[in-house]
Amino acid sequence: MTKKALITGITGQDGAYLSQLLLEKGYEVHGVVRRSSHHGVADHRLRWLRIENDVILHDANMVDLSSLIRVVQEVQPDEVYNLAAQSFVASSWNQPLLTCQITAEGVTMMLEALRVAAPDAHFYQASSSEMYGLIQQAHQSETTPFYPRSPYAVAKLYGHWITVNYRESFGMHTSSGILFNHESPLRGVEFVTRKVTDSVARIKLGLAKELRLGNIDAKRDWGHARDYVKAMWLMLQQESGDDYVVATGRTTSVRDMCEIAFKHVGLDMERYLIVDPKLFRPAEVDVLLGDPAKAKRVLGWEAETTLEQMICEMVDADLDRLAVKAATSRAYA
Ligand code: GDP
Repeated sequence: MTKKALITGITGQDGAYLSQLLLEKGYEVHGVVRRSSHHGVADHRLRWLRIENDVILHDANMVDLSSLIRVVQEVQPDEVYNLAAQSFVASSWNQPLLTCQITAEGVTMMLEALRVAAPDAHFYQASSSEMYGLIQQAHQSETTPFYPRSPYAVAKLYGHWITVNYRESFGMHTSSGILFNHESPLRGVEFVTRKVTDSVARIKLGLAKELRLGNIDAKRDWGHARDYVKAMWLMLQQESGDDYVVATGRTTSVRDMCEIAFKHVGLDMERYLIVDPKLFRPAEVDVLLGDPAKAKRVLGWEAETTLEQMICEMVDADLDRLAVKAATSRAYA
């Protein structure tokens, strides 16, 4: 029998890669989209992967329980992946209550919809390494205490614990994937890796003169989203739900990540990089470094793509994208 998956946040980076993976595995893939984002550019990531006609989209909203119940009743999913969130840390200080509604309460909304309409479905919650914030251990594992440092991280922490709680309270198959930063050519330009690769490509093509960044001493454990969605799927294939750290086990500074991008196109970073204190955050997460031992032991999962491979892939994709744009605007000039 064909398995059915329901993905919230299907138009985001992870939603697109996860859809691609599940379609390859023969799933019927359904996605929840907000009405306002239904038309226009919202599905550009699905289009980039050429799967926009292979997924079935439903109008619903993470802050409207009735809409979620209706979708779950209609789809009757075997697996639900809750990827919807206000996911940009910096914006969460400007919109803390919206972040709380979508990123925190939204998780309970989805869990309640399942409890009512599909209690046997396996549930995945997209938890985040940002929950470790002011790190309490050098390597962060599933047992490391949390110390969130932004409204986003506080909201994600709620989502994590309510996922654990529904597993323990109602015996539901719920899993929390504590994913460290994961990027790709489909990452939004508000995140630092993509901002860097997009700017480096622009500078290389003569479309920009500088790259302005905030705290370049911050360190992150960066992996490739295409690898990380495999871990999500593996979690839902286990006997029971659990919590897993998904990471590479290597940490790199923003500065060094940036250097990889500039080197790839043969440019000297020092000539273009400007540190702008206006881009510093009210509270910073200085360093994150995940310990993915449990994911390897239990799921047999390991990161496959190195940071160098990923950054080069992203720069090349941005160069291609900008070249197409430039050619199109020349054609209409
Ligand atoms: P996050 O870890 O989820 O917040 O992912 P981001 O990619 O947004 O940020 C990663 C790190 O890069 C954070 O420590 C930021 O403070 C740092 N950073 C430095 N300059 C920038 C910038 O211009 N934009 C973003 N988004 N982050 C920056």
